[in-house]
Amino acid sequence: MTAAILLNPGPVTLSERVRQALLRPDMCHREADFAALTHSLKTRLCATYPAAEHEAILLTGSGTAAVEAMLATLAPVDTETLVVANGVYGERMAAMLAAQRKPHRLLRAEWTDGVDLAAVEAALADPRVTHVAAVHHETTTGRLNDADALAALCARHDRRFLLDAVSSFGGESIPVSSCEAVAATANKCLHGSPGVAFVMATRAALERDDDWAPSLYLDLRRYHREQQSGFSPFTMAVHACFALDAALDELVEHGGWPARRARYTLLSAEVRAALGGCGLEPLVAPDHRASMLTAWPLPPHLAYADLHAALRGAGFVIYAGQGALAGRIFRIATMGAINDDDLARLVAALRACCTGGAA
Ligand SMILES: *Cc1c(COP(=O)(O)O)cnc(C)c1O
Repeated sequence: MTAAILLNPGPVTLSERVRQALLRPDMCHREADFAALTHSLKTRLCATYPAAEHEAILLTGSGTAAVEAMLATLAPVDTETLVVANGVYGERMAAMLAAQRKPHRLLRAEWTDGVDLAAVEAALADPRVTHVAAVHHETTTGRLNDADALAALCARHDRRFLLDAVSSFGGESIPVSSCEAVAATANKCLHGSPGVAFVMATRAALERDDDWAPSLYLDLRRYHREQQSGFSPFTMAVHACFALDAALDELVEHGGWPARRARYTLLSAEVRAALGGCGLEPLVAPDHRASMLTAWPLPPHLAYADLHAALRGAGFVIYAGQGALAGRIFRIATMGAINDDDLARLVAALRACCTGGAA
């Protein structure tokens, strides 16, 4: 098995330090040492985006578990949630609410378009809509939706805002203090291993006695009650917690999310210059691009499978388009432990694959 640098949007290539953390001595999730680790992770996740009213709830699962737990616990049963979607992950939130049999309406835009803020505001004229759910970085296309503008609309109309920040947490500015809750994961911009996800929610939301969760495992209030003492209701992914701990050390040492965002921006600029030199143009306009991922139309002479295979041969894993964009685009994410040498090799490999048909 050849090691490859992962350019898919999670799981990411681990640094050696994070990988070694997975080998820490085994620990029981019901012992005091694990409770101390839980407390520390909760505190440090909240310190990533200071928000005094929020509490981080740790879950064992992928990012989807965090989003589904956020909606299960905090989307109402007697009023409606407006889901703002322009990609796979926004539409998935509507599918979750449908599965939970919760009242919702979907404000869907084309995947290649931005969020229509005027349409969101118009929908908020209806008093039955009390909550808004949206995706920050829509990983489908690499578009960074305007979470600040959505949060401001929610504040102005006194609505609660639930944000999927799974692929931006740790790598972009996030208006956490204006959100009732933000769902995220350890193994995208935070550079931890798969297995731990979390929701940052206001203490007020976690302590309200609404009984809305149609799920036992995904009920954040149950976790909140127990995690205040450092313990969790169910077995945690202990080793993935060790890895997240090491990954947060690295994030802090490197200067937090602003420094990470700057690094992603630099890496993405190199990738964009290389592919731009081959005549390719990103799917999303410059002002709306996320720092760490770019979606590209496939060059006319190349099928995705061939491009993927050529880059895999050069030591890199790229990512396909989803849904209607499958077979039409490819995506390159620059999250994870990618050093300057990796970047130079990547740029050379992209040039070789995308210039005039020569793979
Ligand atoms: C990756 C992703 C998810 C789902 O995360 P998994 O870890 O694959 O379950 C949800 N939302 C967004 C925006 C994502 O990028």
